[in-house]
Amino acid sequence: MNETITGGCLCGAVRFACSGKPGPAVYCHCADCRKGSGSAFHVGVPFSAKSFEIVSGTPKGFTKRADSGRELTRYFCPDCGSPLYITSASRPEWIFAKAGALDDPERVKPTSQIWTRSSVAWSTIKKGLPSFEKGRN
Ligand SMILES: [Zn+2]
Ligand SMILES: [Zn+2]
Repeated sequence: MNETITGGCLCGAVRFACSGKPGPAVYCHCADCRKGSGSAFHVGVPFSAKSFEIVSGTPKGFTKRADSGRELTRYFCPDCGSPLYITSASRPEWIFAKAGALDDPERVKPTSQIWTRSSVAWSTIKKGLPSFEKGRN
């Protein structure tokens, strides 16, 4: 039986659901994903486009040609700005959900990383860096 994986944005306006088994998650270190995520890298979880549906809200999309030559559209919530998922014009059968947008991100198990030649040094968290279980104050 297929289970349903749900996710959405920070404000809750946009909600999505995917049924079926996701493909292997991938870290992407490209400069566009860094800007688009506002962090060191993007983690994408591929779902079959047929199994993906927007349950509520209307995400806004921004399309740009990537270094790979592929045209990618990054979708985000127009109210709170949370990045949600990416589609690729050359691979319309897939939706790449942002791992952090999933309600249960612990189930994501990345198996590879791409565009490491543009990764930033701080994309790896140094062992021994001062760590705080909650925010530091
Ligand atoms: Zn939102
Ligand atoms: Zn990327």
